[in-house]
Amino acid sequence: PVPLHRLLEASADRFPDRVAVEFLGKQTTFRELLDQVRRFATALQALGVRRGDRVAIMLPNSPQFLIAFYGASMAGAVAVNTSPLYVARELAHQMVDSEAETLIMLDQFFPRYQEVAGEIPVKRVIVTGIQDALPFPKNLLYPLREKLKKRWTTVKPQSHVHFLPQLLARHSPNPARVDFAPDDVALLQYTGGTTGVPKGAMLSHRNLVSNTYQCRAWMRDLIDGQEVVLGAIPFFHVYGMTVAMNLSVMMGAALVLVPNPRDLKMLLGIIQKRRPTVFPAVPTLYNAINNHPDTPQYDLSSIRACISGSAPLPIETAHKFKEITRGANLVEGYGLTETSPVTHVNPIYGENRTGTIGLPLPGVDARVVDQDGHELPPGEIGELAVSGPNVMLGYWRNETETARALRSLEGGATWLMTGDMATMDQDGYFRIVDRKKDLIIAGGYNIYPREVEEVLYAHPAVLEAAVVGVPDPYRGETVKAFLVLRPGTTATAEEISAFCRERLSPYKVPRQVEFRSELPKTAVGKILRRALLESSST
Ligand code: ATP
Repeated sequence: PVPLHRLLEASADRFPDRVAVEFLGKQTTFRELLDQVRRFATALQALGVRRGDRVAIMLPNSPQFLIAFYGASMAGAVAVNTSPLYVARELAHQMVDSEAETLIMLDQFFPRYQEVAGEIPVKRVIVTGIQDALPFPKNLLYPLREKLKKRWTTVKPQSHVHFLPQLLARHSPNPARVDFAPDDVALLQYTGGTTGVPKGAMLSHRNLVSNTYQCRAWMRDLIDGQEVVLGAIPFFHVYGMTVAMNLSVMMGAALVLVPNPRDLKMLLGIIQKRRPTVFPAVPTLYNAINNHPDTPQYDLSSIRACISGSAPLPIETAHKFKEITRGANLVEGYGLTETSPVTHVNPIYGENRTGTIGLPLPGVDARVVDQDGHELPPGEIGELAVSGPNVMLGYWRNETETARALRSLEGGATWLMTGDMATMDQDGYFRIVDRKKDLIIAGGYNIYPREVEEVLYAHPAVLEAAVVGVPDPYRGETVKAFLVLRPGTTATAEEISAFCRERLSPYKVPRQVEFRSELPKTAVGKILRRALLESSST
């Protein structure tokens, strides 16, 4: 079932008149979306884009994102997901590293391109405004739409700057056929950068399509052509791309986009109005919904299936979310950029074991191994290794890191070393202990920050918690906790320590506690322990 854009073609065959994507009230059917994707592919080819060329996409969740992504795929190009949050310097790094000659971006981001235009290999820029995706309907349901419509583009026409609506109008929906091999790279996806400088994972058509099917198999009770998927997590990260975008397109579901999920009231309003049945997200977002004072006023009962991924899901978050949605199945999954990304999920319709990442998806092989790559028995802590059709081809132009990550273990297959410490129980459920790199070694004891964070989350005043190891002259490292308290509550460092002492061995109890008004997070909402360490007051 490759290449990737076949997912869209197949749904356009089966459900031509169903809504494929909805953005601030504007609905696009599968037939219309496919037409625009085909025109865009023709336009890319006319501009000189050839098989294997890199096309960078710097767009927020929007219909244009789907047009750009599937269009690049159809033209045989390699999409390079580029975070809209990148400042000029980060944008330049990714363009130079990927050697992208084509860049598609929102007009608002254009000044960031201009700042570095002379230093990067980009030859052509395709610009689109959010307003390009907007209708001019009578109802004024979304105030944001009106605000956006007023912001007309300030980008001036130049020979290397093209405008998306004009390209779509000018080119035919008949791109030249490209010969695809399943292992052609479809996407360069830079890793989240939680632990260091982002690396470009090469994900093939086979990788991405396989993972979409693997996730679909897990959600077997969903019905093709009938679901509504909430597209709140960013598509420029592979988690949103696979579990929200590609899965929705494959199921013939309506993908309802949330332009700014940080605007919780907008998100709640969209849920109440569009009644999504599937809502993939990250723990911080579920947590934010649980804790928003207006949440009880909204009807969230349409939500049935939710996968939480990208970071540990606190048990309280899952319980509370089930309560406010009156029964949504919120299960924890796990994955990483290098695996397109999902490898494990708790059964949605079977036994969900909270605190675990569940079972490997169909087609994924998973093992807990020791330093030498030998499989460990159930219950023992080791590094999680995975293998399957969703494991990346390697890191783009980085053989050293590729050799470190992809290893040939017993049995001959290629395994990805995830860098996460895990255990497997007797029934095959996996539990992530923590990231290998975040292990704290204090006075010779191994401490996994996550275990301490879980205790902190159980304290009634704690809204967010992160634990890191800070240098200590006596122990080498010592445990430090950063906390954000719930509005209207108070707690002192002594109270927190006392709370931990009752629940943890002494060496795990935070010696230092720092209160913050917020914690630094990555684009997908992961708490950045590394940044905390750098900004730590001690
Ligand atoms: P970088 O690799 O650049 O440091 P990153 O690790 O955040 O950044 P991603 O590929 O976005 O890159 O995230 C994958 C990581 O997220 C996993 O290796 C794991 O540490 C963490 N993760 C994902 N899901 C879970 C989960 N359910 N529980 C605990 N950790 C998780």
